[in-house]
Parts: sequence; C-alpha cells; structure tokens
Amino acid sequence: MVKQERLLVTEIPGPRSVELLARTRQAVARGVGITLPVFVEQAGGGILVDVDGNHLIDFGSGIAVTNVGNSAERVVAAVQEQVARFTHTCFMVTPYDGYVAVCEALNRLTPGDHEKRSILLNSGAEAVENAVKIARVHTGRDAVVVFDHGYHGRTNLTMAMTAKNMPYKDGFGPFAPEVYRVPTSYPFREPLTGAEAAARAVGQIEKYVGASNVACVVIEPIHGEGGFVAPAEGFLPAIADWCRENGVVFVADEIQTGFGRTGDLFACSHEGVVPDLITLAKGIAGGLPLAAVTGRAEIMDSVHVSGLGGTYGGNPVACAAALAAIATLEELDLPARAREIESLMLPALEELATRHPSIGDIRGRGAMIAIELVDDALATNPTATAAKTPNAAATAAIAKACHAEGLVVLTAGTYGNVLRFLPPLVIPHDLLREGLEILGKSFDSVLS
Ligand SMILES: *Cc1c(COP(=O)(O)O)cnc(C)c1O
Repeated sequence: MVKQERLLVTEIPGPRSVELLARTRQAVARGVGITLPVFVEQAGGGILVDVDGNHLIDFGSGIAVTNVGNSAERVVAAVQEQVARFTHTCFMVTPYDGYVAVCEALNRLTPGDHEKRSILLNSGAEAVENAVKIARVHTGRDAVVVFDHGYHGRTNLTMAMTAKNMPYKDGFGPFAPEVYRVPTSYPFREPLTGAEAAARAVGQIEKYVGASNVACVVIEPIHGEGGFVAPAEGFLPAIADWCRENGVVFVADEIQTGFGRTGDLFACSHEGVVPDLITLAKGIAGGLPLAAVTGRAEIMDSVHVSGLGGTYGGNPVACAAALAAIATLEELDLPARAREIESLMLPALEELATRHPSIGDIRGRGAMIAIELVDDALATNPTATAAKTPNAAATAAIAKACHAEGLVVLTAGTYGNVLRFLPPLVIPHDLLREGLEILGKSFDSVLS
C-alpha cells in the first residue's frame, strides 16, 4: 500500500510529468482534455504518486470510480488470479460464472426486492443506451425524457440525453431523435418544493410529449457532472410515481452516485425510491471498465434473444474485480464511511463559507459533496436578483491552487462554477482534513 501521506518534492507538475505532457501533445488527440497533468505511477487509499515522486491527496477517485481505493488489495488479487486463468471468451459465445455472479450480486444489492435481471457492458454510456433499448422494446414507445443539468455520456444517443453543450456536444450533431428535456429540481437556484418541481416537469412532459408516447424517464438521483445538484425532497418519488401511473419505465442513472458514494448503497434509497431499471458503472469494479443495467425481470426479459450484448461486455477480469470490489464494499461498510466523510467535510466547508461569501451553496451527500461559487460582491447582497451569478473564474483558479499544493479536486456544473469532492471511501481521515485545509488556504489566496 502506498504511504498515506502528502509529499511534494517538485513543482506540480514536475519535470518528468512536463516531459510526458509534451509527448502527449504529439501523440494523443487534442480532444481528450486533462484536468491536472501529473502522470501517475502508483496509487492507493487516498494518495496518487506521480512520476516525479510527489504524493497527491485524491479528492477525485478518477471521477467517482475508485470507491474501494486504487489497487484495493482484494481487487488486485482477484484480477491477478483471473487474468492468469483466462482473459476473454465473450459471454455470448462460451459463458463463465463471474458474469453470472456479478448479475446475482447486482440483483441482490440494488433497491427493491422484486425479481430482477442484469446485463453487463463496458461503459456508463453503453449502460444508458441499453436501458433505453430495453425500455423501448418493453413499452413499444419511442420518447425518452431527461432533465436539465443531466449527464448521461458521450455516445450519440447519450449526447442527446446530456444537457450541457460545451464540451460534450458542440459540433457533434445531429443527435438521436425523440429525446425530450424537462426542468429538474435545483433548490439553490429555485425556491420550488420537490412536489412543485415534479409537477412542473410532469406538466411539460404531458404537454409537449404526451404520457402515452414516453418509453422511459432517465434521471440521476443527484446530477453529477451538472454540479452535484440534489433535488428537493419529494421530487424523485413524485417523478417515479408518475412513471408508474403512466406505464413509463423509470430509469435511475446511478453511474456516479452508486456503490456507497452517497452514504447509501444507491442514492435512490435515500427517499425509498425503487427504480424500474438502474444504470451502473464507475464505482462498480474498483477501476476496471464494467457497467450494468439491472431491473425488473419482466422489463429486462422483454427483449428478444440476442437483442442485447457486445464483444467485451462483462469481461471476466472486470467481473472478478467487481466481485472483489463488492465484497470490499460490504465488508468495510463503505456507505458508512461515506457518511463519516460527509460529517467531516460539511462542518469544515460551512466554516469556510463564513469567511468566503463567494460560497453560495454547499450540497451533496456522503462522499459526493460540492460547493457552488457565486459572484462575491453580489452574494453578500441577497436581495440583488443577480446574487447567484456563477463565478467560474474563481472556481478554476481555486482548483488550480489546490492542484499546485498536491490536492486533486475536480470542477463541474452547467455554469462551470462547482468544486466537487469525490474522495475514495477508504481515504484516511487525516488526509481528508489536510485536503480541506489546502482547500481553505486556496480560497484565502485566490479570493483575498
Ligand atoms: C460518467 C457518467 C456516465 C457515462 O459513463 P462512461 O463510463 O463515461 O460512459 C453516465 N451517466 C452518469 C450519471 C455519469 O456520471
């Protein structure tokens, strides 16, 4: 295990990383953006070690992936054992038990005690695409309803489902048809209750799409890339109820919120919502590429034989990793760890907000916490209509200052003004505290 200690021995990025970045510019397509160009050599727990020997504190988990930690012990052992036995057969050609065991685990762990089935895929976007395919066959309907601030991936259909144009969609159209976007619940920016926001969304669906045309509603229980926007209480249950009453498949996209991240095993459970289908990826396999759709047996099984699949979906090495990650998650009770992280982070961020009025909102659950930055002068005058003007420049500057001090933080948000924190759920608490101190100092230096 990597030593759980921050250590800076060069500037960030150091000389070897700078060299590798130069090679990157010559070899890798420019369209692949990089948040922080330190090249990683090793990682574990809450630490990333770069090629210059710097130890950075990880508040990103590779975008909510390494919930169980990087190179988690059980994951490494399971992968090594599997990779030495066989690496691939294609489950659709000659199957293997790892795939079945992962599906059994997902059927057991996801919300609801109804009979379930699962399919395994490679990426989150692919899971969302498959959920839509399944919902369309099951309902015989075309329309897909999604929400403002939603993010569902970068393939053609999922770009259509993703809200934000830049950088995800610009110039990449035309997009898949029959995707309709309605307003979500965004408590910081609108005073609507959950019930009011749901009534508004449902009103628009009925007016502009027609309930009887809707195959599925796809929603993240907390909008991830959109800025960790958690809906007002009652919003999700009301949308789920409307779906049930209208024969619409309710799909929870828990690709970012799943596997203990929000303090529940799955974020839907916070309000007792049981989705018809749930899309999973990111935190599922300790860093190996795997994704899934899990859902009601009668919906999942409505697709004809051989209608679903893919060459690599449910690769045996990724399945071994998932089984080990899930065992780790249960054994260490990682949802409880996420709640501990929340109880450490929130007071520190609230204290920071008393010194920095540019912190307009602190939100999220578990180890999925964010702050939204607004224009400083206006934030102190809450009667001004522009009091919540997004401050993307300060957000970027603070992220950069954190990076320079060896703290990996990510930004997010439709307006680019959200700092988001996604530490591995196994991060030691002293690293968490140190990371929060660096964040505070970065605020002080950027906004003094
Ligand atoms: C990351 C993400 C996706 C896409 O997953 P990929 O594995 O990048 O294709 C879809 N939905 C949500 C909510 C995500 O956070």
